[in-house]
Amino acid sequence: MQNLCVLGATGSIGDSTLDVVRRHPDKYNVRSLSAYSSVAKMLTLCQEFLPDIVVLVKPDAAKALKRQLDALSLEHIVVHSGEQALIDIASCDKTQVVMSAIVGASGLLPTLAAVKHDKRVLLANKEALVTSGQIFIDALKNSKAELLPIDSEHNAIFQCLPEYQQRHIGQARIEDSGISKILLTGSGGPFRTTPLEQFDDITPAQACAHPNWDMGRKISVDSATMMNKGLEFIEAKWLFNLQPDDIQVVLHPQSTIHSMVQYKDGSVIAQMGNPDMRTPIAHAMAFPDRIESGVEPFDFFSCKNFEFGQADFARYPNLKLAIDACRSGQGACTALNAANEISVDAFLNEKIKFTDISKVNEHVMQKFMDVDITCIDDVVALDRQARDAAHQWVSKLLEQKA
Ligand code: NAD
Ligand code: MG
Repeated sequence: MQNLCVLGATGSIGDSTLDVVRRHPDKYNVRSLSAYSSVAKMLTLCQEFLPDIVVLVKPDAAKALKRQLDALSLEHIVVHSGEQALIDIASCDKTQVVMSAIVGASGLLPTLAAVKHDKRVLLANKEALVTSGQIFIDALKNSKAELLPIDSEHNAIFQCLPEYQQRHIGQARIEDSGISKILLTGSGGPFRTTPLEQFDDITPAQACAHPNWDMGRKISVDSATMMNKGLEFIEAKWLFNLQPDDIQVVLHPQSTIHSMVQYKDGSVIAQMGNPDMRTPIAHAMAFPDRIESGVEPFDFFSCKNFEFGQADFARYPNLKLAIDACRSGQGACTALNAANEISVDAFLNEKIKFTDISKVNEHVMQKFMDVDITCIDDVVALDRQARDAAHQWVSKLLEQKA
């Protein structure tokens, strides 16, 4: 029996994780759960999974949850609030597995704590790795933690790698295993064929309607701008110890192939399946075993097309920014990620246009790209400065509109 901590339990990845857990009560015990503020959803999860500890970051929400748990005679469930409490549940001695599924750089410190405390870390929170890069990988090297990718592309790549590479995440050299390229697939999102002159009028609802995947709102917008693929490009660099030229983005609108590894003898190994995050989650939870995930087997006879293409940077300027950031260094990656969290939030709140997202991101990335990052405090400081600069740029755009 493994004790599990789910960070970001009320989100889309949280849902999928708990659905896999539900199918294997003999293997996994939910020890702790966290969310930002969703009292009602957390209450339902508490009733079903009976965790020992729950964290709601917002103090008022934590108090409200505690009152409701007491009223249901669930007073033995301990409720904490605040960011330190996330770090505490992620590093707790009684937990072996941590699902890192908070959205954004807020997931960094708890995820890093789980790594430093030798957990099996299931990494969905790509922003944590994008924003800290080498610092994260060094922490992994200096620990006994096991890092398993949940992002479907990185989980697919992991599954296509030889065991030596799988056992030395972030450290093995791909040339030692005859690997020539990592092919990172992406659907192109909901606006792959939308005329560019309509991009100014794209609404949050349209941007969140992904053709193949059902996800949280932030990553849905990132998928529409392909910033998600850009963040994944940086994530792949760190997870698989790559140079930017080792990675090729391949558009594949059907999302059936989740990514591929090309070897120097001409072989290409792909991982396929229905687009459902329970597959990579079940894979990482059980690795190296395999368990049922609830995902339907892929039906090749009803599959329509199998298309591939190149991503066009005029359509996806955010993808280019992220690849440029990856080539530039940690300052650019940390600043770009922070700016993107602010610009996407401003778009979702209808303050800026869809096409303004890349403008805010580019401005902030240029401003901070030469900043040196050598420790986690540098990351936290730059993240804050970049957010401030992005807020200022959003305000400027709002003034222009008024
Ligand atoms: P979501 O918005 O559905 O859920 C986010 C979770 O994080 C919620 O539980 C929320 O309460 C919590 N949260 C939000 N802000 C927080 C904060 N400041 N502090 C603490 N907790 C906070 O997001 P999601 O789609 O589940 O994505 C989670 C992560 O997984 C993201 O990093 C995303 O890029 C990654 N990911 C998601 C998918 C997917 O299919 N949804 C696929 C691959 C990777
Ligand atoms: Mg992905």
